[in-house]
Amino acid sequence: MKTTNRRRWLSTVATAGVGAVGSQLFQPQRAESHPKFSPESKIRQAAQSPLLLKDYQPKSMLHVPETSVPRSKFPNIDFHTHLSWIDRKGEVDVVNHVGEPSEALRVMDAKNIKIMVNLTGGYGPLLEETVKHWHAPHPDRFLVFTEPWYDKANTPDYPKFQADQLEKAKKAGARGLKVLKTLGLYLRENIKTGPLVKVDDKRFDPMWEAAGALDMPVAIHVSDPEAFFLPTDRYNERYEELSAHPDWSFHGKDFPSNAELQEARNRVMSRHPRTRFVALHVSDSENLPYVSECLDRYPNMYVDIAARIGELGRQPRMARKFFDKYQDRILFATDATPHGDETPQQIFGNELYEIYYRFLETEDEYFDYAPAPIPPQGRWRIYGIGLPETILQKIYYSNAARLLGIA
Ligand SMILES: [Zn+2]
Repeated sequence: MKTTNRRRWLSTVATAGVGAVGSQLFQPQRAESHPKFSPESKIRQAAQSPLLLKDYQPKSMLHVPETSVPRSKFPNIDFHTHLSWIDRKGEVDVVNHVGEPSEALRVMDAKNIKIMVNLTGGYGPLLEETVKHWHAPHPDRFLVFTEPWYDKANTPDYPKFQADQLEKAKKAGARGLKVLKTLGLYLRENIKTGPLVKVDDKRFDPMWEAAGALDMPVAIHVSDPEAFFLPTDRYNERYEELSAHPDWSFHGKDFPSNAELQEARNRVMSRHPRTRFVALHVSDSENLPYVSECLDRYPNMYVDIAARIGELGRQPRMARKFFDKYQDRILFATDATPHGDETPQQIFGNELYEIYYRFLETEDEYFDYAPAPIPPQGRWRIYGIGLPETILQKIYYSNAARLLGIA
């Protein structure tokens, strides 16, 4: 584990219950206390060279209600978190845990999070280690998913091997299968070289089928915002995000398009109707009409909202209708992780959860979707969708509980 991550984790959990982490970011700044609003600084500013986009942090001057939602209205299951990661050390994979369960539990208890699902639990002996660290000491608070063993993907008996691994993973304590966008965007025929392996590659069919037979939901992430597939130029609405993370761009080279990835995932869902798939990040959060079509077409499809309230909250009327119509198939999730400082929209802590609750439960207007001075996924703000209690209860808890086999 990197020291910075550890430090971030500790500093975040240290203030659990007080709600103090970074809260200064959300204090409306008074005009007179803002140096940029004094007449002298105005003149100074104008005389200086042009303000760089990266330095521009405009404060909203709207006078609108700000509702604090310190706890979710119902206990929740965060269906999408990363409490451990598999890292490559030389030739072998190792598992890193981002902290101790007791540290996470302090935030969970303060924020009404009953269960965290740690999706990136690894495989084989690494999975066993993850289960031992998170699930075994607190079986009713942490659940762990397993992942495919891609190193073996080129071996002739891989299809059967991977299906058998799933059975072993279930016995070891895994509750589902997580498929990162590794499949479709990174994994190549010879692991790192050769053509990309397609999401609907037949060698994974026994794995998808086994997941259904074992009643293990599949959490699958296949694509990213559409702008990641376009040139990083002046027209790209995620220019700043892509500039900060150039490796997130899938433009050019031999990358498939967003539509191709979504369709490949659809073919998998159609070939394995008994298997339940949770398309992570709302599947395609910028295109809810398309996601609706997919949900109508594939009854075995669900979606989570992890790291996409920035998208849902900037189209609040359409999002609200979407939640109404698919209230039995949407899961509360955040993508929370104390891993890395570069994605504020995912930093595990009080503040992250309070923003999600505010989005789901209130009709507040024009607020930040991430605890950061500059909106990290694009320069816009969001609007709450004020869901009624009946829908909130499903989104927060019962939909996920049903999928995970929890009473
Ligand atoms: Zn994730």
